[in-house]
Amino acid sequence: MSGASAGNASYDCLVIGGGHNGLVCAAYLARGGRSVLVLEAASQVGGAAITREFAPGFKVSACAHLLHLMPGSLIKDLGLDARGLQLAAAHMRTTAIAPDCPPLPIDAHDPTLLAARSAADAAALPAYRARLRRLAEALYPVLDTATPRLGTESWQDRASWLRIGWRIRRLGRRDMRELLRIGGMCVQDLLDEHFETPLLKGALGFDAVLGTSAGPRSPGSVFPLLYRMAAEVQGGSALAQPVGGLGALSDSLARAALAAGAAIRTSATVERIMVRDDRAAGVILKSGEQITATNVISNADPKTTFLQLLGGEYLDTGFVRRIAHLRARGVTAKLHLALNRLPQFTGLSDSALAGRLLLAPSLDYVERAFNHAKYREFSAAPIAEITVPTVNDASLAPAGRHVLSAVVQYAPYELAGGWQNERQRFVDLVIDALERCAPGLRASVEAVELLSPPDIEREFRISGGHWHHAELALDQFFIVRPVPGAAQYRTPIGGLYLCGAGCHPGGGVMGIAGRNAARALMREAA
Ligand SMILES: Cc1cc2nc3c(=O)[nH]c(=O)nc-3n(C[C@H](O)[C@H](O)[C@H](O)COP(=O)(O)OP(=O)(O)OC[C@H]3O[C@@H](n4cnc5c(N)ncnc54)[C@H](O)[C@@H]3O)c2cc1C
Repeated sequence: MSGASAGNASYDCLVIGGGHNGLVCAAYLARGGRSVLVLEAASQVGGAAITREFAPGFKVSACAHLLHLMPGSLIKDLGLDARGLQLAAAHMRTTAIAPDCPPLPIDAHDPTLLAARSAADAAALPAYRARLRRLAEALYPVLDTATPRLGTESWQDRASWLRIGWRIRRLGRRDMRELLRIGGMCVQDLLDEHFETPLLKGALGFDAVLGTSAGPRSPGSVFPLLYRMAAEVQGGSALAQPVGGLGALSDSLARAALAAGAAIRTSATVERIMVRDDRAAGVILKSGEQITATNVISNADPKTTFLQLLGGEYLDTGFVRRIAHLRARGVTAKLHLALNRLPQFTGLSDSALAGRLLLAPSLDYVERAFNHAKYREFSAAPIAEITVPTVNDASLAPAGRHVLSAVVQYAPYELAGGWQNERQRFVDLVIDALERCAPGLRASVEAVELLSPPDIEREFRISGGHWHHAELALDQFFIVRPVPGAAQYRTPIGGLYLCGAGCHPGGGVMGIAGRNAARALMREAA
C-alpha cells in the first residue's frame, strides 16, 4: 500500500495483519506518536473486509458485505469520510423472504404489512425493539473498553468494573431483571414470548445466530443478538453499504493510518514472532527478512498467533491447551453470483431489493438447518442473508449486469465428505433455495464463486474460517476472550498484543478491538 521500506529499521510497533482492526490499531498508535509498520500477507489490505473481482468485470465485498457495527466516533476520529468512505446506501431495510409467502418488511417504523398478517406482532415489535435497544445501550461501554481484570488492586480495573455496574444499574429494576433473565436464554424462547408470525420470528432469530455455531434453541443465543445490537446502537448509519464495497472502508482506514505516520507493507507474510529475553522483539518474514520492534501486535487470529507465529515453546502448557481448544470452526459460507439481469424476487419492491433480504422462514427452519451442522453436514434448506449490491452501486458490475452476495449458514468447516467433493452440491442447493424465491435466477447466473470456511481460512488466513476468529459465546467472551491469560489484549509474552476479532469484543467490522488494543498498549507503556 505504501512504498515504505522497512530495511533494517526498528519500530515501536509492528502490526501483523492489515485487516480492518490492524489498520485501526496502527492508526491510533501512530496518532499516539508511535512509529508503526503494518505487515499484511495479502496483496491488498482489509482482511475479511475487502472488495475484489470474482468474475471478469464483477466485484464484490468478499466476506463482510454490510457495514453496521463500526462506531460513529471511530469513523469521525479517523476522518474516514474525508479519506474516501462514502455510503452507497445507509439505513438499509430488512425484508424476510420465503418461498411460499409474500415478503415481509421487518422494520419497526413500517408495520403495515406486518399488521396485515398479525396485529398483535405489529403492536409488539416496537416495544420489543425498544427494550432490547435499552439493554444493548447499557452493554455498549463493555464493548468499547479493554476488559477489566478480576481481583487486582488496580484503580483502573476497579473503576472499569464500577462503570459497567453503574451502566447496568441505571437500567432500572425491571430492565436489569430482564437483562439477567434473557442474557443466557435461547432466542427461540424470547421470540416465542413476544411474537406469533413464523416469518418474523425466523428473521429476528437469524441475527442472533449469524456467524456463530448456534441455532435458535441453543442456550445463550440471545447474547450474540444483544451484543450485535450493542455495537449497532453506536453506529450512525445502521445497515450500510460503502461505495465500492467494504474494501473502500479498509482503504480509508489505511489512508488514516498512513496520514498518521504509519507505514504499510502488503505481500509481507510474517513467518515467526521473534522473542528475546521473554519479550517479543520483532518478526521474521517469509522472505527471511527480520524486522525488530519494541512491541508486536497481532491482528491474526489467536490460534495463528500463538501456535504458528509464536510457537508453543514460549508458552506454558495450560495456555497452549486453552488456545488449542478455543472453539473456532466456521459455519458461514459466502456465495457470489454474477447475474446478467436484476433478480426478480416474487412480490418484492425495488426499495426492498436495495436492502438486505433474510431467508429464514421460521425458527424451526433455522434450527433444522443448524441440526445438520452438528453432524458435519449442510442442510438442503439453508438460511441466508442476501444483498444485491449493484442496485445501490452500479460500479460493481458491467452495465446492466448485477451481483448477488449471500452469507449462507450452516456450512460446517469440517464437512463430512469434504468441501472438494461437496461444493457443487452446496452451490446448487443454495441457488435452488434462492430460485424458489426469485424464479428465473438460475438462468441469469453467468459466474459463481463460493467461499466455504476452508476457502476463507486459506484466502483470508483465518483459522477455521470463523467470522469472529473464535466462536462468540458466553464461555469465550469479555474477560475470558479469547482465553484467560490473553484477555485485555496482552499476552503471556511481554510486548506481544492481540488486536483482532479473536479478542474482546469479537468480530464484525467494528474496529473496536483495534482501537481498544492501541489504547491498552499506550496506557501500559505510558
Ligand atoms: C462470510 C463472512 C461474512 C461476513 N459478513 C460480515 C458483514 O456483513 N458485516 C460485518 O460487520 N462482519 C461480517 N463478517 C465478519 C468480519 O468480516 C470479520 O469479523 C472482520 O473482518 C475481522 O476483522 P479483523 O481485522 O479482526 O481480522 P481479519 O479481517 O481476518 O484480518 C486479519 C489480517 O491478518 C492478515 N494475516 C494473518 N496472518 C498473517 C501473517 N502471518 N502475516 C501477515 N499478515 C497476516 C490476514 O491476511 C488479514 O488481512 C463476515 C465474516 C465472514 C467470514
